[in-house]
Amino acid sequence: MRPDILNPLFAPVEKLPGIGPKLAVSLTKLLRGNNPDTGARVIDLLFHLPHSVIDRRNRPEIADTHQGVLATIKVRIDRHEPPPRGKGRLPYRIYVHDETGEMALTYFHGQGSWLEKQMPVGSVRYVSGKVDWFNGRAAMVHPDYVVAEEKLHELPMIEPVYPLSAGISQKIINKAVRAAVTHLPDLPEWIEANVLARQSFPTVQEALGRLHNPQDALDVSPQAVAWKRLAYDEMLAGQLALALVRSKMKRGAGKAWKGDGSKRRIILDAIPYELTGAQKRSVGEIVSDMENPQRMLRLLQGDVGSGKTIVALLACAAAIEAGGQATIMAPTEILARQHLATIGPLAEKAGIRLAILTGREKGKERERIYAELASGDIDLLVGTHAIFQANVVFKDLALGIVDEQHRFGVHQRLSLASKGGAADILVMTATPIPRTLVLTFFGDMDVSKLDEKPPTRQKVITNALSMERLDELVGRVSDAVAKGGKIYWICPLVEDNDELPVTSVETRFAALQKVLGERVGLIHGRMKPAEKDAAMDAFKNGRTQVLVATTVIEVGVDVPDATIMVIEHAERFGLAQLHQLRGRVGRGSMASTCLLLYKAPLGEVAQARIKIMRETEDGFRIAEEDLRLRGEGEILGTRQSGGPGFQIARAEEHGELLEIARDDARLILNDDPDLASPRGQALRVLLYLFSKDDAVRLLQAG
Ligand code: ADP
Ligand code: MG
Repeated sequence: MRPDILNPLFAPVEKLPGIGPKLAVSLTKLLRGNNPDTGARVIDLLFHLPHSVIDRRNRPEIADTHQGVLATIKVRIDRHEPPPRGKGRLPYRIYVHDETGEMALTYFHGQGSWLEKQMPVGSVRYVSGKVDWFNGRAAMVHPDYVVAEEKLHELPMIEPVYPLSAGISQKIINKAVRAAVTHLPDLPEWIEANVLARQSFPTVQEALGRLHNPQDALDVSPQAVAWKRLAYDEMLAGQLALALVRSKMKRGAGKAWKGDGSKRRIILDAIPYELTGAQKRSVGEIVSDMENPQRMLRLLQGDVGSGKTIVALLACAAAIEAGGQATIMAPTEILARQHLATIGPLAEKAGIRLAILTGREKGKERERIYAELASGDIDLLVGTHAIFQANVVFKDLALGIVDEQHRFGVHQRLSLASKGGAADILVMTATPIPRTLVLTFFGDMDVSKLDEKPPTRQKVITNALSMERLDELVGRVSDAVAKGGKIYWICPLVEDNDELPVTSVETRFAALQKVLGERVGLIHGRMKPAEKDAAMDAFKNGRTQVLVATTVIEVGVDVPDATIMVIEHAERFGLAQLHQLRGRVGRGSMASTCLLLYKAPLGEVAQARIKIMRETEDGFRIAEEDLRLRGEGEILGTRQSGGPGFQIARAEEHGELLEIARDDARLILNDDPDLASPRGQALRVLLYLFSKDDAVRLLQAG
């Protein structure tokens, strides 16, 4: 249970003075996103940090003010000038002066009686707002603040500015946050004294106080110590939670799966190439984890085309040699079928009984697969997320492999682990995830890297060209077809859409068919599975040479003799996607090209993406640039609440803190695995503060 001391922070925002049900709804939208699992709470307000400040410290006299510049000025009220009767659309003006000149305070729809009370003639007031100079006269339209001398302290010289959404103004959010800050309890310190000192971290209370009541613009920078302290706290909570899940999984007794190498040898003899050094090393790391009785939780990272499939198959072979079963899960049916096709012949030679399970296997066939999995007559199951279903029961699952993992959620990963009492887990990612993100999403997982490409991989030349050169491009494609080449042509949409000025695959297919006839194929996500298979087969066998496709072919598809990749409307694709798509060519022995066809004019971000694509094929660098251009949440498509994205920390600003938090979490759990010490108790408060209730529950379950 959450410690009582945190209850005021987890109370709904309506509990704060001045927040009614309507405002609460707007705040929920702002603070908890579009699919909130709970209404906005006090803690959400506290974690909503300002992005800048309004600085009212500029205190000039009227004559020294500048056009459009914020100023706080001491003035004397001279006279009120209401709009003439019946001309309510004209402003209400109040004339004021100081020793250097005169100025008008201008109010549209001003309420005379209220204004007269606020600013009686002859009184002295401090007014703060932007000054407008027009025809040599100074005016201030709707001053932000008007206060009497004795109330000057109520005029905030530095005001935090918050990210907003509809229905909320800066004034409202400022007031709400100020009320929330008063609810901050005294929290126990969970950071060690020497770390606090070394990092110059303030306490949590001080940090939140400073961020919401800044004294200077620097106070609200993500690099300020206050922000860094909270970012570290958030990361530490995340790393602790992941480490707890991981140690729980590892504690669930693993098994030592040790094979005799016979099947692996057959497979290695059958492939027409030599493994790269990186592949050999990764297979070694995986196999040695499997031979160890502790449960494996390993990430295999390898850029597109780095040859993950064969590594996966060898790991499966090791599991099967040891008498267990293995499964490889792919994110799409096309990929699952492709795995079946590439793995099939090798598996057969090695005496591995292979089956596939996707949405397509139905009725009797499906029942038979279930039965053979349960009896152990199937050694290796390849499939889609259909494998997650409850009826899928293995006799003795030794190894679960998740391919192209970023398409699956965290919870699905864990549910695969539950399929086998002692199954080792290998997660493979094609998107080279920057290290900061690996830590955020996977915690302290062991990582194997395929950082070396097969020697047969060709460099892909990348060029960008504007849509105006479409005819020229079609000419080049025809030439390539005449010479026997294979070309992918990607469009963003399946069919035309009146609202989007974007070419669809159907339109492009029809247009290319006019020029190239039978040689053109079409594939997209709305086709029936059998039609997709047929289209893929035709392209593989060379019956078609141009495959017009949506991004269904983005992940993993392997046709080694395809050498040209055309991406139409390249400006509409993200960097990671462009890189994945380009990875479909350059897989064979022939030189390959990627042509980014764009519609001018290009926006700044699209320009930057195309530039990076032309500069490098290094997936890791591309992923880092992508992170920089987009922010971390979007990369894995998991910004929504409940996802592992951050509220306070930013991967691009606080990356080095993440490493520290990872190490600290490891040390903490080494010394105090049940978080039982006084500091452990404080750390439990931290976990609850960042809503890692599930992780604390794992602790209690032992
Ligand atoms: P990815 O890592 O993108 O999943 P694949 O496993 O699909 O890559 O491999 C890409 C291509 O490279 C395949 O055609 C595969 O047969 C080939 N390949 C894999 N390893 C090697 C190697 N060591 N030498 C040569 N070709 C290889
Ligand atoms: Mg692959």
